[in-house]
Amino acid sequence: MTGVIGPGGTIGILGGGQLGRMLAMAAARLGLRTHIFAPKGDNPAFEVAHAHTEAAYDDFSALDAFAADVDVVTYEFENVPVETARHLAERVPVRPEPRALEVAQDRLIEKSFVQELGLATPKFAPVDDAAKLGSALARVGMPALLKTRRLGYDGKGQAILYPGDSAFDAWERLGRVPCILEAFVTFSCEISVIAARGMDGAFVAYDIPRNVHEGGILRRSTVPAGISDAMQRRAVEMARTIAEGLNYVGVLAVEMFVADVGNGEEVLLINEMAPRVHNSGHWTEAACAISQFEQHIRAICGWPLGNPARHSDCVMENILGSEVEHWRAIAGEDNAVLHLYGKREAREGRKMGHVTRLKPLSHD
Ligand code: AMP
Repeated sequence: MTGVIGPGGTIGILGGGQLGRMLAMAAARLGLRTHIFAPKGDNPAFEVAHAHTEAAYDDFSALDAFAADVDVVTYEFENVPVETARHLAERVPVRPEPRALEVAQDRLIEKSFVQELGLATPKFAPVDDAAKLGSALARVGMPALLKTRRLGYDGKGQAILYPGDSAFDAWERLGRVPCILEAFVTFSCEISVIAARGMDGAFVAYDIPRNVHEGGILRRSTVPAGISDAMQRRAVEMARTIAEGLNYVGVLAVEMFVADVGNGEEVLLINEMAPRVHNSGHWTEAACAISQFEQHIRAICGWPLGNPARHSDCVMENILGSEVEHWRAIAGEDNAVLHLYGKREAREGRKMGHVTRLKPLSHD
């Protein structure tokens, strides 16, 4: 296979946050080097990488120097400008391809793409301007969520609309930017598929976590999710369809709602995808021999994918803001695997670390 990067090779990572940090640590364990490219800021990935470039994503001379130093480029952050990824792709392989970024960055493109693949999403309608609000509301109904098409994360850039609320006011609060209106889903739970596709088309998925969000931020992921085997298989097939549709290489996360459609019947609706390792997959570093981080490195370097089997049940909990002060108590717990990101400032709601609490494997 051409394009394989062996030990001693250098992986370029766009983005300097905790995901980049964990990717760099996994790469180091396989004898690979990492060079992180990120704009100025608190970049915890710099501390564990072989090299870093602190520059803006539109600093093309810095990008050229970065491209010359690495064998492959990947990203840990899906809001890297697509032009940055395309510029790099003319110089060095970029995996996954920039198209994955383009799809994931815009909720309208993402949901339309998913529907074109024949997969279900919550009902939605574009809201390009104020004139579209009325027709979108007529199509989607209430309650609904108005979300900015771009740059939304961790529940930011969203407004919920109940009957009687002014959609126009909500749109104004979101900054009068292009949005989508999405039906509010009554779900029994949220799950995600963390899957990997190799350069040879091989595909593997981890067991599915059940995810609980608070204030739009992931609070915890529990494995097993307590959903039926048939639903697990269906969710994995949906993620595979997306990965194949994008000719994807690397780890991909697909967040889904298990939606209650009445009569006790449940369906899977895709909420969003992330073209990268994902917070709801952090438990894999503690409960699997091969973590999502190593899996991503293997995939983008053309190595055989690792076995995603789980050796323990677990609950991964995010450590947010000042909760990090409890590090000592958590470190003292039995069967708890603590991971701290080395961030300097513990702002409220900021992801400072996570802990995965392990339990013996159940056979449900
Ligand atoms: P998002 O940024 O789109 O992933 O949204 C963050 C969280 O808000 C999701 O994980 C859900 O808990 C909730 N949410 C988003 N969209 C919907 C929806 N259409 N219906 C109900 N809850 C939603």
